[in-house]
Amino acid sequence: MQGQCGMFSGMPELPEVETVARDLASALPGRCITAVWLGKTDFLADPAALQTQLPGCRIAAVRRYGKFLLLDLLPDNGTGRPGTLLVHLGMTGQLVVQPAAAVLPPHTHVVLTLDDGRQLRYTDVRRFGRIVLVSAGELDVSLAGLGPDPLEIGQAEFCARLGRRRARIKALLLDQRTLRGLGNIYADESLWRARIHPAEPAAQLGPARLKRLCRAVRQILREAIRWRGSSIANYRDATGAPGAYQRRHRVYGREGKPCVRCRTKIRCLVVAGRSSYYCPRCQRAPKSALRPVRRPRQIAH
Ligand SMILES: [Zn+2]
Repeated sequence: MQGQCGMFSGMPELPEVETVARDLASALPGRCITAVWLGKTDFLADPAALQTQLPGCRIAAVRRYGKFLLLDLLPDNGTGRPGTLLVHLGMTGQLVVQPAAAVLPPHTHVVLTLDDGRQLRYTDVRRFGRIVLVSAGELDVSLAGLGPDPLEIGQAEFCARLGRRRARIKALLLDQRTLRGLGNIYADESLWRARIHPAEPAAQLGPARLKRLCRAVRQILREAIRWRGSSIANYRDATGAPGAYQRRHRVYGREGKPCVRCRTKIRCLVVAGRSSYYCPRCQRAPKSALRPVRRPRQIAH
């Protein structure tokens, strides 16, 4: 699935998770969880903990950390235990607020009924997502090691974190320990905007191009949040609606189509095991770049 050009991962990244977090932050705080229903539980670390500890909790806040959604919980009426519900949407996870009477869609695996008659429903076709209830101390451990948020980091820190690394720039952008929240779509779009080849070693970029990349990453992420994320495969916001940024992609998923800047055909290359779309003219290859991957031709009978 991953690592082959022409195959889309469509995994929720920072803009998609931010969109869901903002939707949930306007819908959930102050609401109390009254009941928990679970479908398939093979992707849950501790389903019993969700069933016994969530009822009676009040949702205090919803926030994003990298690609994680965090629902901060407070005990209500002394029955629940404080903590945070940590949610990772995996590849196909959706978290949607619906009236309890609405039809339950297929692949719904977690339903939290709220005290206002609505439900927070988690749907996940492939079940690569993650939902775990953690204490404050456990949350710190779970999130330890993630790098800074690209929307919060300054240009100087961005250059310092990436500039001395010998790894290919695309691999570094995807590495959550370097920066948290970027994935394949927004790394490719940012590199195209900054005119940097995905396989170029970060240490070769120099301060001017690194600063250009930092600006491009921030611009792309902000634009994608404004357009409510990219719906390639399953992504939906917390109202169940798709995002619109996929219509503004300049390179991602556009192999063989003309570059909107120079009309050269967009190519695809595997870097760090992931499909990487780029314009061979706008993003000149360094000497160390990999050769473009050729797909095997179909044999004629
Ligand atoms: Zn171009």
